[in-house]
Amino acid sequence: MRFCADEMLGKLARWLRLAGVDVAYRREIPDPELVAEARRENRILLTRDTRLIRTLKPEESLFITQDRLEDQFSEFRGRFGAALAEARSLSRCAECNTPLLPFPKAQVEGRVWPYVFASQSAFTGCPACGKIYWRATHVEKILRRLERLRGNP
Ligand SMILES: [Zn+2]
Repeated sequence: MRFCADEMLGKLARWLRLAGVDVAYRREIPDPELVAEARRENRILLTRDTRLIRTLKPEESLFITQDRLEDQFSEFRGRFGAALAEARSLSRCAECNTPLLPFPKAQVEGRVWPYVFASQSAFTGCPACGKIYWRATHVEKILRRLERLRGNP
């Protein structure tokens, strides 16, 4: 199941990607183009736009009413809990939505800080934008927050 988010939902899109959900997100895309793209790519459109939602069929959209990320996430979970449960945390690039691949250590030399290179043995990376990810303390924080967002205590 694939999604796209309107411009007002950048933070939600980012955290859904971190949870592993496929969410297209671009800034400054006109509404008709956004809708056309969602339909063409068979994506459910997440929107906060009261005017836009009236033009969409219920099965092709989800109206997000809340402001806080936690509340927006639970609105998403309420309808698409199964898609969320299937998604694997930290399997997708938070910047560009591309599935991550394991990057061999040799491939990241010179592309991360030397202390990171020296202290980490496993890296994943984005084949599209080149961003490199590794397990660090801030990742544990992200994972804990994702567990809360997923509704797991
Ligand atoms: Zn990327």
